[in-house]
Amino acid sequence: MKRFEYSRATAPEQAAQSASVKDASFIAGGTNLLDLMKLEIETPVKLVDITRLALAQIEKTTDGGLRIGTLVTNSDLAAHPEVIANYPVLSRAILAGATGQLRNRATTGGNLLQRTRCYYFYQTDSACNKRKPGSGCPAINGENRTLAILGTSESCIAQHPSDMAVAMRSLDATVETLKTDGSTRTIAIKDFYCLPKDTPHIENVLESGELITHVVLPAPIKGMHTYDKVRDRASYAFALVSCAAIIDVTDNGRLDTVRLAFGGIGTEPWRNEAVEALLTGTDGNENVIKQAADLLLKEAKGSGQNDFKIPLTRRLLKQVIQRALAGKGA
Ligand code: SF4
Repeated sequence: MKRFEYSRATAPEQAAQSASVKDASFIAGGTNLLDLMKLEIETPVKLVDITRLALAQIEKTTDGGLRIGTLVTNSDLAAHPEVIANYPVLSRAILAGATGQLRNRATTGGNLLQRTRCYYFYQTDSACNKRKPGSGCPAINGENRTLAILGTSESCIAQHPSDMAVAMRSLDATVETLKTDGSTRTIAIKDFYCLPKDTPHIENVLESGELITHVVLPAPIKGMHTYDKVRDRASYAFALVSCAAIIDVTDNGRLDTVRLAFGGIGTEPWRNEAVEALLTGTDGNENVIKQAADLLLKEAKGSGQNDFKIPLTRRLLKQVIQRALAGKGA
């Protein structure tokens, strides 16, 4: 591991200011960053420890939503009574990820920033455009079974690994930040991540030293909340395909609210509002579901080993819609 300077912040403003030097990083749970540092994939010259900041609260907003401090652990967020009662899609997504020990350490802000699990990204003697821009992407013609089929580019096909972020996307969460100059901004989660294009090392719109302080959920959305995750093992495995769904069905069997965000298939948490619009107001018959799946997967591109994700996504979409219509919930 490369040597680095360490400082512990006592206030958000101080943290942001401390991180204003080039190649500084924040550390909270460290469940991804420490692995990356040990492998020298990330080599921050300075670590700013934010674990002592007062950003571990969950509070209600005046418009009925929820404001989650960046340091709220994944375990605490999943177990919070408000989240269980009103945002079960989020609770289920979090509990579908990692292990109890990791969820006890991992934080809300850190989860949004976790990096891909593409094998080549972690294999430092191989090329990887995300780790070393311009070096190439061996995954495209190599081991790509777990990688993305949507939002890919000729530079990178790495999937986004987070379950929590997929649920956040279905909920239209917003990310609140503090910049090094003390100014704040709010970023809709749909605008937070960057597609790889020809710069796969740039994964989100955060500026250098910009600190995530909170994630805000809008008022609850009624309907069935589910998180379906298809994976190789029953626990401690990343999604091959997952779906965070919020679906409300009218008394006469029509799909009313339809929100569908997908994990495991996109280079960012994947949501296509046109698919939701196509389904809304229909009775969700097989033909409509097929049209929705066609639209969702119109631009999908398999790379060989991960071709199976295309039919698997179709089946997962169908399963989720039909379960909502059957009124069986999660
Ligand atoms: Fe690197 Fe992305 Fe290619 Fe994986 S898919 S090797 S992360 S450039």
